[in-house]
Amino acid sequence: MARRKVSTYENVTRQYNAAADLMGLEDDVRKILAVTRNEFVVHFPVKMPDGRLEVFTGYRVQHNNVLGPFKGGLRYHPAVELDEVRALATWMTWKCAIANIPFGGAKGGVQVDPSRYSASEIEHITRRFTFDLGDNIGPEYDIPAPDVNTNPQIMAWILDTYLSTVPAHERQACIHVVTGKPVEAGGSQGRNKATGQGVVFCIEKWAKDHDVDLGGVKFMVQGFGNVGSWAARLMRPHGAKLVAVEDVTGAIANEAGIDADELKRYVDDAGGVRGYPGAAPVEHEEFFGTKADIIIPAALENQITGKTAPLLKVKLVAEGANGPTDPEGDEVLQDQGIHVIPDILCNAGGVTVSYFEWLQNKRSEFWDLEEVDGKLHRMMIGAYERVENAVESYKTDWRTAAYVVALSHLETVYKRRGIFP
Ligand code: NAD
Repeated sequence: MARRKVSTYENVTRQYNAAADLMGLEDDVRKILAVTRNEFVVHFPVKMPDGRLEVFTGYRVQHNNVLGPFKGGLRYHPAVELDEVRALATWMTWKCAIANIPFGGAKGGVQVDPSRYSASEIEHITRRFTFDLGDNIGPEYDIPAPDVNTNPQIMAWILDTYLSTVPAHERQACIHVVTGKPVEAGGSQGRNKATGQGVVFCIEKWAKDHDVDLGGVKFMVQGFGNVGSWAARLMRPHGAKLVAVEDVTGAIANEAGIDADELKRYVDDAGGVRGYPGAAPVEHEEFFGTKADIIIPAALENQITGKTAPLLKVKLVAEGANGPTDPEGDEVLQDQGIHVIPDILCNAGGVTVSYFEWLQNKRSEFWDLEEVDGKLHRMMIGAYERVENAVESYKTDWRTAAYVVALSHLETVYKRRGIFP
């Protein structure tokens, strides 16, 4: 009999229950956090620049806002659906709680393959989706940001559309309705590289704690978009060697090393890593079996599974993507003694600098890159150490420990505030 495909949200629930059992999460809090707060689904029409009309489906799921406004990215992908957005929104709540950021968790997206649309069509889709989201987003309520296939330009269109819907004299007070904006449109220095930067800060800390010289390390990256390409480029100054990369167009490898900056220029031009002349093409399974010390998954969910995890030869999985490892993959990593820096810790750099951007907008300030990177470093190391301590005190794996840190924080807040009525 064919096995039913386990949904991404079911994976989140499994992770959540394991941590809640271990720490003895209070029953009422457990009930609240087990479900999402609000779920918004909209089928919206878009009049394209050539006059034709198309109808799209968009989502915004708000999981929890006890720590602060809902916060989370918007994804444009043909596979976006409610179950996935629920999972991603829930992970955002845990991530903000671990990072000590006063935000809750949300996520959204549009079911669309952006490679089939021109920039001007994407602008139309974005503006109409923003309009239809209406008051479901807001600078003190729910703040979107970039995710898969969305970028600073798309954030600028969201900003512009949202501002057009508020009275003129309130507009300046609303520019923090979205983060990950271009610097010229109210964005923060360092936001674009922030998630990759946070991943590399975590890897540096792991290497220091385990006496690993990053200068002698080989690493591989899955996904060479915002997160993957920045992480790869930021590993370079350490002397670490990038030996394999996979994206949606295929996989490539070169034992002698791949120049991440040159590959980025190639990908910007060619649309993917396939055909890059500085490396040989390899199959999906061969990619996972690459001789390397570290893998940075930075593509989509459920990539390191019961099938692919046994192929890995690495010592560390540094999760740039959200949910790249499914529970079966996790079991294999644990059995093989492979370290994991879990997504809700490892990729928290993006939301952390989004928080900095939000603060700068609210205060009409502009921080330089040094200030942003310094603050990001302190927050990432603080979060890393909180999880490390939970690993020790609960004698558990890093993912469960990360959940325990998040859930303890949220439980404390609920206990202090009580539950209305
Ligand atoms: P992106 O759109 O910039 O890049 C996505 C990359 O994944 C592309 O290189 C794409 O080719 C690749 N990819 C897509 N499908 C694939 C497949 N089936 N196999 C291999 N590669 C595939 O997206 P991003 O912003 O870099 O996000 C990547 C991951 O990081 C996502 O899980 C996202 O939720 C997570 N994340 C992003 C941010 C952020 O600030 N952008 C923050 C936290 C977490």
